[in-house]
Amino acid sequence: MPAIGITSPEDAAVRRAVKPVICYPNKTLPKVPLAFYQSVRQSAKKIDECLVPARAANCFVVPEGHFFRITSIEGPQVGDLNLWNSDNLNERFYSGKTRALHGSHITVGERMWSGFPALRPMATITDDSLSWYGMDEYGGSVHDVIGTRCDPYTNNLLSGGQYHHCCHSNLTRAFSDFTGIQLSDAEHYIHDVLNVFMCTGFTRDTGQYFMKASPVRPGDYLEFFAEINLFGALSACPGGDCSSEHSSDAASCYPLLVEVFAPQPGLLDDWVKPPVNAYDRTHGAD
Ligand SMILES: [Zn+2]
Repeated sequence: MPAIGITSPEDAAVRRAVKPVICYPNKTLPKVPLAFYQSVRQSAKKIDECLVPARAANCFVVPEGHFFRITSIEGPQVGDLNLWNSDNLNERFYSGKTRALHGSHITVGERMWSGFPALRPMATITDDSLSWYGMDEYGGSVHDVIGTRCDPYTNNLLSGGQYHHCCHSNLTRAFSDFTGIQLSDAEHYIHDVLNVFMCTGFTRDTGQYFMKASPVRPGDYLEFFAEINLFGALSACPGGDCSSEHSSDAASCYPLLVEVFAPQPGLLDDWVKPPVNAYDRTHGAD
């Protein structure tokens, strides 16, 4: 609705009809050697796993050149994923720039990018059992980088009360337990997530963030190649399949499984891990 006193200009329709251009054409991004990664994965051996309990989070470590797989088990469940460089926890996943580079949802051949000043791929998606879903009639798709993470502050703002099992709190507790960093400091390391398996979009009329029941079923998975040494945390969202609400214990929730796979020795001898960004960081200062 226009503001008071504002009327449409005569050429409003012409202005609206201007065709959009892509903000960040991504054809010049470094090529993803997807076929190579997938061939290495075929002989990789499982070396570790961790279970993420319902309405809780757990942490895991993935050495560079290894793969990790997140699997739905027992029932439809979405997960909120945080990633850090395990050698430098200040380098962490940057969902906003990942969204700008790849779009609102990511799948096979696309990457999770770290923040400034590194701005490099942390993990590349190599397999996705929900890649058939595409974009539905509502503009919804899976594995978004448009949501943030459910959190007790927004819940308090909108509904009041103290709910302690939002993904933000689950990730904070797990990060603190795993690293020994005290809870109040640990919270600052938690960042906006990759919403694994979550089905989301923006409404066409109001542009509001929406969710709908995830198409994920037990056995569905999303798999990644670790481009750098990774420390990960995954929360099994209290929203369950996110068909109705989150930030409460109302939804049916299920655990998620994380598995780590090591490549056969020698297969990655010619592979080079991505360097940090080459910008000189002088910012035009004298
Ligand atoms: Zn959540």
